[in-house]
Amino acid sequence: MNWFLPRMLAAALMAAVGAIIGTAIGWGGDTVLVLAVLGAALGASVSAFADRIRGYKLMRWLRSDRAQPAPRDTSFWGELGYRMERALILSQRETERERQQTKDFLTAIEASPNGVLLMDKYDQIEWCNGVAADHFGLDPRRDVQQRITNLVRDPAFVAYMQQGDWEGGLSLSARGGRGTLSVLIRPYGAGKKLLLSQDVTEGLRNEAMRRDFVANVSHEIRTPLTVLSGFVESLTTLKLSEAERTLVLARMREQTARMQALVADLLTLAQLEGSPRPSPDNWVPLAPLFDRVVAEAQALSAGRHILHADDVGLSEIAGQGTELQSAVGNLLSNAVRYTPEGGRIDLRWQQRADGSGLIVVQDNGPGIGREHLSRLTERFYRVDGSRSRDTGGTGLGLSIVKHVMQRHGGEIDIESELGQGSAFKLVFPAARVRQTP
Ligand code: ADP
Repeated sequence: MNWFLPRMLAAALMAAVGAIIGTAIGWGGDTVLVLAVLGAALGASVSAFADRIRGYKLMRWLRSDRAQPAPRDTSFWGELGYRMERALILSQRETERERQQTKDFLTAIEASPNGVLLMDKYDQIEWCNGVAADHFGLDPRRDVQQRITNLVRDPAFVAYMQQGDWEGGLSLSARGGRGTLSVLIRPYGAGKKLLLSQDVTEGLRNEAMRRDFVANVSHEIRTPLTVLSGFVESLTTLKLSEAERTLVLARMREQTARMQALVADLLTLAQLEGSPRPSPDNWVPLAPLFDRVVAEAQALSAGRHILHADDVGLSEIAGQGTELQSAVGNLLSNAVRYTPEGGRIDLRWQQRADGSGLIVVQDNGPGIGREHLSRLTERFYRVDGSRSRDTGGTGLGLSIVKHVMQRHGGEIDIESELGQGSAFKLVFPAARVRQTP
């Protein structure tokens, strides 16, 4: 009511002014009444006109972009403008909050390692994250509102989209057949669909490697076992002379040793995979380590090779002593086993200008063909299978070395050429190399 009173007062005031003027002029009677009514009408008109102007200002503000505050005055229109402005600000804040929430939500999905794609009921893309775009070769901006089946034309995918029942997932070949995607659709809302995709190439490759590994291990164990059971059979059923018995027992010992070596290497690999990374603060002096591996190599060579080892002074490597010894020992044992009698084997140590360190095992043996070099560190990969087995090799030595190096933040570098000997280099990062302080 407080907007109504001022207007009534204005009308009453003007009526009174009219009556006073009428009385002053002295016309009296009806004329005074007429003038009072005219005054009231004039007062009301002036109020209405002022209201019209204020209403017009408010309307002009509403039609504008509302960058300026609403017109302020103490009247009804002022309060109306103020309330409208407040309501608009609150609604803008709410919209902004919701917009920010949606943005945060989409940013979180964008960060997902899996592909996420939203479709409307016509299978048109509404939104997709970068991973989904990468998986399906889409452009997250350009392809919005496109039907997905027009863009992903793989028949298996089109059939999956059309089947309408998406209980199970779909395996899809990706990147020109070089990878595999696992795709899953979940319906939501009014006919909308959520498509999830995951690159399972790595997982499948690991699974295949695991299967190969089990098959290889079984094969490696079965061979000596078959030989052993044959000998056991001969010993029990045949009447052997003493010399024959000794020979059979020697062969049996060889096969048992082969199985023992295989199991030992498998255990080493399992330990390497299962234990924490070697500490960067545990400093292993190289001199005693070199002494031990050289003594082992000399025992294995039994004087058939010329062995030379560098003086390493006070050099130290940060890591796990037994692992480092096993890595260098494996390389030396390979050099002894593959280098013919009279050959030369060098164990060298170098600290480079950038601080990194290099242990090199070099021989002047038969060398290795270039085509084999990249595969040498794979488990059970052998260039010459029978030579490896004859000399007690398990096919796991270099993969153990590679593992040890990876755990020490280093790498193994192999240089070899057929007929030119081989050099196996263990490269340690500067942070793991020092001179005894
Ligand atoms: P293995 O137990 O068979 O020696 P490794 O993993 O240690 O297995 O080595 C893999 C293969 O690399 C060997 O089978 C052998 O053919 C080749 N190789 C390794 N070291 C040498 C070397 N010093 N000279 C020639 N060939 C080598």
